[in-house]
Formats: sequence, structure tokens, C-alpha cells
Amino acid sequence: MKLLSVIVPCYNEEENVRDFYDELMKTENFFKQKDIEFEVIYIDDGSKDGTVSEVKKLHETDPRVHLVSFSRNFGKEAGIYAGLKHAKGDFAVMMDADLQDPPALLPEMYGYLESGEYDSVATRRVDRKGEPPIRSFFARQFYSLINKMSNADIVDGARDYRLMSRKFVDAILSMGEYNRFSKGIFGWVGFRTKWMEFENVERKKGETKWSFWKLFLYAIDGIIAFTTVPLAFASILGCLFCVLACVLILTIIVRTLVLGDPTSGWPSLVCIISLISGVQLFCLGIVGQYLSKTYLEVKKRPIYLVGEEF
Ligand code: UDP
Ligand code: MG
Repeated sequence: MKLLSVIVPCYNEEENVRDFYDELMKTENFFKQKDIEFEVIYIDDGSKDGTVSEVKKLHETDPRVHLVSFSRNFGKEAGIYAGLKHAKGDFAVMMDADLQDPPALLPEMYGYLESGEYDSVATRRVDRKGEPPIRSFFARQFYSLINKMSNADIVDGARDYRLMSRKFVDAILSMGEYNRFSKGIFGWVGFRTKWMEFENVERKKGETKWSFWKLFLYAIDGIIAFTTVPLAFASILGCLFCVLACVLILTIIVRTLVLGDPTSGWPSLVCIISLISGVQLFCLGIVGQYLSKTYLEVKKRPIYLVGEEF
């Protein structure tokens, strides 16, 4: 008998815990036939509602349901890592609690893994139905930017919904970095991945936990975690401005010698000084971002802390 670990990160999802379980169990028969047993691990990311008690209720009726409850909110990335760490299965799958990752796709996903041709089966939504247009716009820009700058192959519309073999899970776990950006990590480890597409499903109950600002910071995290191109950009910009300054100095010297024009032009000077100090601070900011991430990384703080588990 093989084991499939289903990992479900939850943050204030009391309304979804049971619905998710019911929906997942619809695929139980399929997996029984294949001689595969479930293990459902809910990762409670410091929820302030009744998520934990909902999971406890499930555990009482079905001992295959487990809980790892964090001591506070550590973010979904920490949830993913904790889930994979606790998964004992021969396969593991990550799924959102809000049913935006339809469990009905699981049998087909398993089919690809079973064929032995793939090490992981990933999903991507082909549209962004139900999402504010401005959010979709920035999301698209982000994906095109990060793919130009990094070699991690980050797919637009990719969800964290992914079925993985043990080999793939161990590869992810071997990346113990503190600043975790799973979309990048999944691509970075390589292996053979099958992409499945599906139409966006809107959240069943409750609200999204990602504000625009949270997503923006997450995008910056992703860029810093997977490329150092912005640092090179800072140096290149610095070089360009040096060249520009030399040209300007030469022009001014020549002009003063030829025309004798000693004091005019202070407004343009002020503009240039402001521009260049702006560019300098911007570049310093880029360096600062990398430094701050390095600082957090060298501290080697735990990625999450467990308050309760069963
Ligand atoms: N989530 C989490 N910790 C957080 C934020 C979200 O574990 O700090 C979980 C959340 O409960 C859900 C999944 O991550 O199961 C995806 O979150 P959400 O549905 O809010 O994101 P969206 O689908 O809107 O991108
Ligand atoms: Mg969602």
C-alpha cells in the first residue's frame, strides 16, 4: 500500500476545512483501487478563527487527518515547507483550502506520475477570471520581468497545486533557505514536470488572504530570491552616469573656454544633482534589499514554529 500526503495550508479557513475534506474524499475510491491511502495534513498558519477546532473534529472521525498548527502566522511559504517536511507519503500534493485547486483533477494528475514519465505534475490556470484587472496586469508584468531576469522558469498562472514524487519532495526540502519563493523553487529543482491547465475556479467561501501590498512584497521577494540582475543593473546605471558626467564636464570646459560663460545654468545643475542622487539612492536601495535578505538568511531562524500537532 502506498501513501499520498495531501498538504493543505490554512489561514482562517474554518468554513473551508470540512468542505475541502468532503470534496477530496470524492476521489478516495479512485486511489483505493490503485492501492493508495490518503494522509491529509492541514497546516494551520496561526489562524485566529475556528480552523483548528474544525480540523480536530475531522481528526476524531478520521485518524488520517493530521494537523500542524503554527505558533503564529508565518505565511503560506512556511506552510508549504512545513507540510512537505511532515509528509510521510510516497507522493505529496499541495492544495489550497478554498477549493480553488479542484481535487477532481487528482486522478488525472496521478495518471501522469504513475506512467513514470514525470516526477511532478503541476497545474496552471489559463485565465484570471474573477480577479481585479489591475492585479492581473501587475501579475503579468511580474512574470515577464522575472523570467527575463532569472533562469528559474517561473510560469505565469502557475498554482502551487502540484503532485510530487518523493524524489521531488526531497529536492524541495533540501533547499532550506529562509526567504522561500516556491514558484521559483519548484522550477529551480528541475526534474520532469507535466503541466496541466484548467480554468480558474473562484474561491468558495471566505476572502483572499493576499492584499495587493502583500502580493507586491511577495513579488520583490521572488525577484531577490531568484536573480541578482538588479545588482548588475545598479552597476551598469552607475557606469552610464559616469560616462554622461565625463561628457558633460568636457562640454562645459570647452564651452567656458570658448564662450566665457562662468555662472549661468544653476537650475540645470540642481536638476542633475537631484536626478543623480535619486538614482544613487535607488541603487543603494537595491543593494539594501539584497543585504537585508542575506541578513535574515545568515541568522538561520527557523522557517516556522509548531504550537500543536497530531
Ligand atoms: N494561506 C496561508 N497563510 C497565509 C495566507 C494564505 O496558509 O498567510 C493559505 C490560505 O488559507 C489558502 C492558500 O494559502 O489555503 C491560498 O490563499 P488565498 O486563497 O487567500 O490566496 P489566493 O487564492 O487569493 O491567491
Ligand atoms: Mg484562493
